[in-house]
Parts: sequence; structure tokens; C-alpha cells
Amino acid sequence: MVKKSQKFVNPRFARKGEYKEVISAIIKEGKCPFCPENFKYHKNPILKNTKNWLITRSSWPYKNTREHLLIIGKKHKENFKELYMDDFKEIMSLVNWANKKFKITGGGLTLRFGNTDYTGSSVAHIHFHLITPKLKNKKSIPVYFPIG
Ligand SMILES: [Zn+2]
Repeated sequence: MVKKSQKFVNPRFARKGEYKEVISAIIKEGKCPFCPENFKYHKNPILKNTKNWLITRSSWPYKNTREHLLIIGKKHKENFKELYMDDFKEIMSLVNWANKKFKITGGGLTLRFGNTDYTGSSVAHIHFHLITPKLKNKKSIPVYFPIG
């Protein structure tokens, strides 16, 4: 059994006004906002499910993203060592599905894991970000993804 953090969210990295308020509300509840039973703060529909993962648009997309999707596990995991090949197979299928559906021809897939004091992630529950940037005059505008 992998030890879970007592701190499901880290307010240090909540950037904007509304997001900061939501994070404060989640802290008061003391529950993980990405676990299926508490998935009420998320504002966008689930686009596709696999057995253990789902894909949805980020409620608070990063600046300069054309698409900012989150791939979220249905079980509470915080550490990389909790992921198995079956997880990566499902994640691959969701990334391939989204790339086709949203005509993503290039972008980034990122994962932060473990202690949120080192990750810059506001939610400890493991999730991948699938990001493609906006274009301006056919050139991409960089998206900055914080780690730490
Ligand atoms: Zn969770």
C-alpha cells in the first residue's frame, strides 16, 4: 500500500481568482477533488472513459493553449511507482483518441508526480496534461508548464 498524502491539494500553485477560491473550498472539505466520488468541482464533461482513466478539458486552461485536456485516473494515486503498463496502454489510447478528435498534430503530454511541494501541481492525484498551443500567424505561441 502506497502512502497517500494528507494534503490532496496545494494552494501555493492555485493561480487565478476563481481557481484559488475553488481550491480553498476543496481544502475545507478535506477530500481529493479528482477522485470520482468528489469530481464535482470540475466544470467540463468527461469526453471519454477507459476502465481506469478519463479524459476531459481542463476547467482552468493554461495561457496560450488551443486544447488543454486532462487525463485523470479513476483511482487515487500520487506516485509514479503506482502506475502500471495497463495504465499507460489506456493513457495512450486516450491521447491517440484526443489527437485525432481535436486535430492535434503536435503538442505536449506532461505528468507531475509525488510531493506537491516539488511539482507545482495544485492537485496531488496523478493526472496527465495534453496540451497544444494556439497559433498566431501560423506560429505557435509557447505554453509554459510549471514544475516546482
Ligand atoms: Zn484522488
